[in-house]
Amino acid sequence: MPFKRNQTKPVSIGGLTLGGNDEIIVQSMCNIKTSCVEEVSKQINEAASFGAKIMRLSVLDFHDASAIREIKKKVSIPLVADIHMDYRLALASLESGVDAIRINPGNIGDEKRIEEVLREALKRHVPIRIGVNGGSIDKALLKEKGSLSRSALLFESAKKHIGILNKYGFDDIVLSLKGSDALETMEAYRLAAQSFPYPLHLGVTEAGPKDVSLIRSTIALAPLLMEGIGNTIRISLTEDPIEEVKAANRLLLDLGLKKDWPRFISCPTCGRTEVRLLPLAKKVLQYLEEHRINKTVAIMGCAVNGPGEAKQADIGLAGAKDCFVLFKKGKAIKTLPQDIAFETLIEELKNLY
Ligand code: SF4
Repeated sequence: MPFKRNQTKPVSIGGLTLGGNDEIIVQSMCNIKTSCVEEVSKQINEAASFGAKIMRLSVLDFHDASAIREIKKKVSIPLVADIHMDYRLALASLESGVDAIRINPGNIGDEKRIEEVLREALKRHVPIRIGVNGGSIDKALLKEKGSLSRSALLFESAKKHIGILNKYGFDDIVLSLKGSDALETMEAYRLAAQSFPYPLHLGVTEAGPKDVSLIRSTIALAPLLMEGIGNTIRISLTEDPIEEVKAANRLLLDLGLKKDWPRFISCPTCGRTEVRLLPLAKKVLQYLEEHRINKTVAIMGCAVNGPGEAKQADIGLAGAKDCFVLFKKGKAIKTLPQDIAFETLIEELKNLY
């Protein structure tokens, strides 16, 4: 690990340990109604094949809560039920065998309801993630401490919810403090890491479509991860969850916090490019990630500078006049017509593993 990790209490989620170690777990959330058991299970299994270790499901009604039991039979990674307000849905999800619950105890209402949920969660060794969001900080807190910064409000809100769980002796807690602003989110997590012993789920909320969110999420998450903060990450995208999982893995790879993911290099192209580079680069990246080929592969625009610029690549292609040069570790091996470049590269790659 290139950065020393902040040590937290370990929390077990369906046999997976979150915190208390150096691992950073990738997770995402299904974007299909949970009661559609077949489609949801398929999406979870696909996300798992791309390296998701936890998936979250929205539980909006009792159909969703009872579907968890069926989904559990078809998938092999832990599931988190995402619940707002209705404590009965938390109880029903627990009954269905969910591995964790995301609920904010301060939103459940009556203390008896909180106690009931906590008793069931404790009995089943199911942790609770307190998920504080910038858009839903409770009104009482805003009234009392409204002059504080947004980061401090996220922190105070988390503290309030933790206080409720601790009051009932509940300590299996995971925390998230997500704002939609990268810098305020980052500061809120720093405050939490200094003050609470619980594992942190990092993310920026409502981060936008891919082009916007990738930048916003990286601004917030990369410094935190480099400071040793964070035990699980979700990169929220207005996109398919598989894209979230890929993005999270790429971020961890580039920070040196993960090794088992393909490293892809391609040049921006320039006036020297005489091949159709962009479609080829996209196709190769997709193949590498789909097949989890954990090699360094470069797709470069010209044979003059390409191989030299991508010396660290295990293998690559560099464009020439309407053809490609195949290179390994910076050395040209053979020349290929454009129409067989992809297939030849894949064949050569297979010889490497
Ligand atoms: S590798 Fe060649 S084509 Fe690509 S940016 Fe560099 S000089 Fe231009």
